[in-house]
Amino acid sequence: MLAIAMVCKPKLLIADEPTTALDVTVQKEMLRLMKELQHEFDVSILFITHDLGVVAEMCDRVNVMYAGQVVESTTLEDLFDDPRHPYTEGLLAAIPDPRAKGARLSAIPGAVPAPWDWPTTCRFQDRCSHAEPGRCDAMPIPLREATGGRAVRCVRDGELTLKGLGG
Ligand code: SF4
Repeated sequence: MLAIAMVCKPKLLIADEPTTALDVTVQKEMLRLMKELQHEFDVSILFITHDLGVVAEMCDRVNVMYAGQVVESTTLEDLFDDPRHPYTEGLLAAIPDPRAKGARLSAIPGAVPAPWDWPTTCRFQDRCSHAEPGRCDAMPIPLREATGGRAVRCVRDGELTLKGLGG
């Protein structure tokens, strides 16, 4: 599939979950090959994945999406060290910590609403531990530019201290 995709020498390669169902050895080989192709053909890669380990391996810039919207746009380093959206914080908290053997795994409560149930206000509000009635459910939340070349879709951005992988 990669060979077929590269034969026209594209400037942009869109890789949608390319490592799904691969075992870790094949996945590692696939990521190595994609990096090689990226350099050899000078191609940008838009990588779509649920695997934050793959994100850490492959990405320079990350757009976190929830219910069809970008909720945070940031660099790889800031994503893991300094998340600014509560959904990003929840995703990082859900990464199993091998040092916390026997501890209960963290999960974001609830489930992603179906598209026909998406509220016109914050789509994450029913699952967000930082939700504030009267603000989060009052109006549509735009994706706002923030400092450091970032963008965040949250009315409480700048008020919250969220936990990254560093604690
Ligand atoms: S707008 Fe409110 S509910 Fe939505 S992510 Fe931010 S704090 Fe949570």
